[in-house]
Amino acid sequence: MPTDRAYFDWNATAPLRPQARAAMLESLDAAGNPSSVHAEGRGARRLMEDARARVAAVVGAEPQNVIFTSGATEANMLALTPEIAGAPRRDRLFVSAIEHPSVLAGGRFAPDAVERLPVTANGVVDLDALGPALAKAKHPLVSVMVANNETGVVQPIPAIADIVHAAGGILHVDAVQGAGRLPIGMAELGADLMSLSSHKIGGPQGAGALIRRPGLSPEPLIKGGGQERGFRAGTENVAAIAGFGAAAEAALSGVATERDRMAGLRDRLEADMRAITPDLVVFGSALRRLPNTSLVGLPETRAETLLIAFDLNGIALSSGSACSSGKVQASHVLASMGVEPALARAALRISLGWETTESDLERLLNAWKKVVSSLGRGRRGQAA
Ligand code: PMP
Repeated sequence: MPTDRAYFDWNATAPLRPQARAAMLESLDAAGNPSSVHAEGRGARRLMEDARARVAAVVGAEPQNVIFTSGATEANMLALTPEIAGAPRRDRLFVSAIEHPSVLAGGRFAPDAVERLPVTANGVVDLDALGPALAKAKHPLVSVMVANNETGVVQPIPAIADIVHAAGGILHVDAVQGAGRLPIGMAELGADLMSLSSHKIGGPQGAGALIRRPGLSPEPLIKGGGQERGFRAGTENVAAIAGFGAAAEAALSGVATERDRMAGLRDRLEADMRAITPDLVVFGSALRRLPNTSLVGLPETRAETLLIAFDLNGIALSSGSACSSGKVQASHVLASMGVEPALARAALRISLGWETTESDLERLLNAWKKVVSSLGRGRRGQAA
């Protein structure tokens, strides 16, 4: 990161870890198609299989159950199919209302076979509504994320898994935002299928994985070759996969130490921002959240105005809204929590990572003081 900038948008993407860069460079310099039998091919395969073992370790799976994809969007699409060999055909898909758009899209189910599960005002999947909803299906497929990318609120996945399994369901978990920040063992969570993304943990963009419980085989999305045990055709992106593997190893070894450090920084940041602007709303603050994520809203402001002001002050933040192709839309996450639209439009997401320092925090707090006072807000602004 340039030294005149402070980056607080780690939930959108993380900087490349040095270990990932090194692994990618090594791989780019090695010729060879991992499907070829000669020494060069075997070399490429070795890099890929090393990466597979490292990614598997993040979720406590066996390497052969890791299917590499182009990212978590594709992994989600691969998982969300009615046809999962090893289990009866799925007749209905249930997705929580706060899922990433790649899950809300409903995968390969007909639109009228997809149902949204409500969340409480805190942004947690409503466990009381789950059982009755699943009773509408014979063989449900359910998709709930480990933690939300906007609020950071952690979902009660083991409890959800119990309800889903009691209803004869299969549980897919989008674990993209949990990786490197929480323990996400598949068995401990009770997940049957799990998606990961490389670039959220310091690997390159354009790589991800679907991890499956042994015996469950989702219908391939991309057909035409035997790569990835037939689950995903096409010559593999070996360099990206090698980078993903190196990032996974670094992320796993950092979970325990980074978690407390990030939570400490995040809590201090929220306390100091509240001291400057006492009417600041911190979404989900009473709940278990990702240690690195803070979604805040200053009433009667507009996130897009603040974002630009922060950017001009050297700070990269995101709005709480889905911000694809640079367009700010109302957040479906806050809407499903029943947050009033005016406050939802004020939501700013501040997300930290392993490179975030105390001085980054100071920079953000100084910018916060400056920006809010230019709007006539903050302690002094309020008194005026
Ligand atoms: N799920 C969640 C929760 C995410 O935050 C993202 C990234 N915005 C994705 C899925 C998609 O991941 P990718 O960018 O690898 O397609």
